[in-house]
Amino acid sequence: METRIYVAGRWESGSVVNENRNPSDTSDVIGVFSHADSGLLAEALEAAQQAQKKWWAAGIQKRHDVLMAIGNELMARAEEIGQLVSREEGKPLAEGKGEVYRAGQFFTYFAAEALRLTGDFAESVRANISIDVRREPVGVVAIVSPWNFPVATPAWKIAPALAFGNAVVWKPADLTPASAVALTEIIARQDIPAGLFNLVMGSGSKLGRALVSNKAVSAISFTGSVPVGRDIASLAIQNMAKMQMEMGSKNPLVVMDDADMNLAIDVAVQAAFGGTGQKCTAASRIIVHKAVHDEFVEKFANAARALTVGHALDSTTQIGPVVSASQLKQNLEYIALGKSEGAELICGGEALERQTKGYFMAPAVFAGTRNSMRINQEEMFAPISCVIMADSYTEALHIANDTEFGLTAGIMTNRLSIANHFRANSRSGCVMVNLPTAGTDYHVPFGGRAASSYGPREQGTYAAEFYTTVKTSYVANGSPE
Ligand code: NAP
Ligand code: MG
Repeated sequence: METRIYVAGRWESGSVVNENRNPSDTSDVIGVFSHADSGLLAEALEAAQQAQKKWWAAGIQKRHDVLMAIGNELMARAEEIGQLVSREEGKPLAEGKGEVYRAGQFFTYFAAEALRLTGDFAESVRANISIDVRREPVGVVAIVSPWNFPVATPAWKIAPALAFGNAVVWKPADLTPASAVALTEIIARQDIPAGLFNLVMGSGSKLGRALVSNKAVSAISFTGSVPVGRDIASLAIQNMAKMQMEMGSKNPLVVMDDADMNLAIDVAVQAAFGGTGQKCTAASRIIVHKAVHDEFVEKFANAARALTVGHALDSTTQIGPVVSASQLKQNLEYIALGKSEGAELICGGEALERQTKGYFMAPAVFAGTRNSMRINQEEMFAPISCVIMADSYTEALHIANDTEFGLTAGIMTNRLSIANHFRANSRSGCVMVNLPTAGTDYHVPFGGRAASSYGPREQGTYAAEFYTTVKTSYVANGSPE
């Protein structure tokens, strides 16, 4: 068996076998990957605890240099690794390459952040005492990541974890093991203590749960669905582990009566169908002012029909397959549910046949939907977009905020007063004006509110909040005599 699990500085073969196939062409086997058992997990955690101390002692220049090397290699190999991501996950090649390049930028950004680990000095309220407030690593960080950004999401967690002196045990999604191995190979080749970085593959329900319940784990960074987030939180609280969780959403995009219609269509198409709609930041509820509603629905549906759905590695493809057979089945069930709830399916929503056998689906637009419908309340993670008509801006804002989630929200308008009101009153973690709800920068915080997020923000300088712990240190100054 091939060796694809990386534990305590060694590649290991593991046990249960997971055959990984291309969602654009199910006859294409990307590789056979194995699962780590509880023995390998225990070894990873033990090695991580030892290695973390050495890594912290190695100092900021070393940490900077290692992260910079990882980032530069990812950027230089974005084309090659991007192909693998597209083959494995199903996103079009341009998106696969873009993702890997972005992953590199997370590492180079946090390479520099490693050098900026500063603290505070304070005078004491007592005589002859001085105080400093410093940041220290939290220890061993468990990272549990989803399949939809199989390189970028782990990168924005691994980079700050290592930059601030922590060790990492990473469990990637079972659907995207090849991307996980590609990233791990780059990290494993660096001059780092054995055990500082570990890749343990396995199912979420077994290995994922075992990892997040282990006492050796001081902090858990998770991206995935809300139910899994809840399960992880209930396990992790037993050990009082620190938690950072980024979960699902049901992001609104409001289209106002004064919006530039062509731009609104472009933005809605990108936000709803980019990445086959499988983005936590996707716009799945399009809330349109009644004055432009009919025009918008017609043009939006025409644009959705015009999208080329096909093999992710075909250069003409705009929308790749969905990730798996079970995802496709669930998407088609949501189409049936929407119809049964009384929504009008304007276009798409059916499985498509292409030259290769894959999980292709025509991007769907529902109109005549109400916000209370399940298709507007539940995250579908699919190329399915629902249009909701609003009588006024006030009603549109109310609908936008009427959700259990709160990751991103967008508005299309040319009125400054409305744009600013929406920026101030949208109950979301990221808000966009005249831009898609998906697509964020790497140097500023990312995260949501309500059921979409829990714990400190990811990315930018805010990442230090989660990946470090603060120590307040007092010293009596004594007397020089
Ligand atoms: P998921 O089912 O929640 O799985 C995420 C990760 O958790 C996978 O590695 C999974 O392993 C693991 N896992 C599953 N059950 C577990 C358990 N009980 N204990 C510990 N780990 C467990 O999500 P997904 O299907 O991979 O991805 C889609 C979801 O991710 C969507 O809800 C989407 O909104 C969310 N997402 C959020 C963001 C964000 O930043 N807010 C970004 C991207 C995606 P297996 O793969 O082996 O099941
Ligand atoms: Mg899942």
